[in-house]
Amino acid sequence: MDNDHESNQIYQLLLFDIDGTLIRSAGAGREAMNRAFQKTYGIQNGFEHITMMGRTDPGILQEVLDEHHLDWDGAQIEQFQSHYYDFLDEELKKPRDGMRICAGIDQILSVLKNRHDIILGLLTGNWRYGAYLKLRHFGLDDYFTIGAFGDDSGDRNQLVPVAFDRFRMQMSFDVLSENTWVIGDTPLDILCGKPYGTRTIGVATGVHELKDLIAEKPDQVFEDFSDVSSLLRLFIPEEELISE
Ligand SMILES: [Mg+2]
Repeated sequence: MDNDHESNQIYQLLLFDIDGTLIRSAGAGREAMNRAFQKTYGIQNGFEHITMMGRTDPGILQEVLDEHHLDWDGAQIEQFQSHYYDFLDEELKKPRDGMRICAGIDQILSVLKNRHDIILGLLTGNWRYGAYLKLRHFGLDDYFTIGAFGDDSGDRNQLVPVAFDRFRMQMSFDVLSENTWVIGDTPLDILCGKPYGTRTIGVATGVHELKDLIAEKPDQVFEDFSDVSSLLRLFIPEEELISE
């Protein structure tokens, strides 16, 4: 239908990473993984030396299993996940220095949620259930209509096509890759969008510095999103932005 062709031109899909981009959980996730690993496998501090930023939950777990010469056993993994969700829920409720919603995010999501031409999505290495525990804790769980998660692939680079598929299922037409934005706090976020022709935005609210993000040549880069309108004007025409 012509209609379809016309409609997909105007839609923009925004794919947000969670940790370091929307929120900082200040170690709650790592602590929950450690506790779940100990409960499932009897090994303490299994995730102590593991780099988690920008990676997927299954990818991280695989690395720890390899380190301890353990097999990926489906039933045990399910046990680990179930413990992880319980502990994550607990750990998120503990007060932690630095635990917060990242600057500007509340306001940005509130404005974008009201735009019929913008679809808000998630592209995260978190397992879906854990992702929503985190989002719910910060009151951000109602903003997103589609998502690609660690459940979909252990390889972040496979998640953009999953998000495209989910968009198609939801909207019954394809979003243009040049109208899709991958937004994240690590070089891996920027790198996972590029092969698919999406636009990319790096934001230095996680562990990585601005220069690490700039090195991967994102389309846009921000120290943080505290200047809300400088991000919003990438998606919203100036004259409409003033009235927001
Ligand atoms: Mg992140």
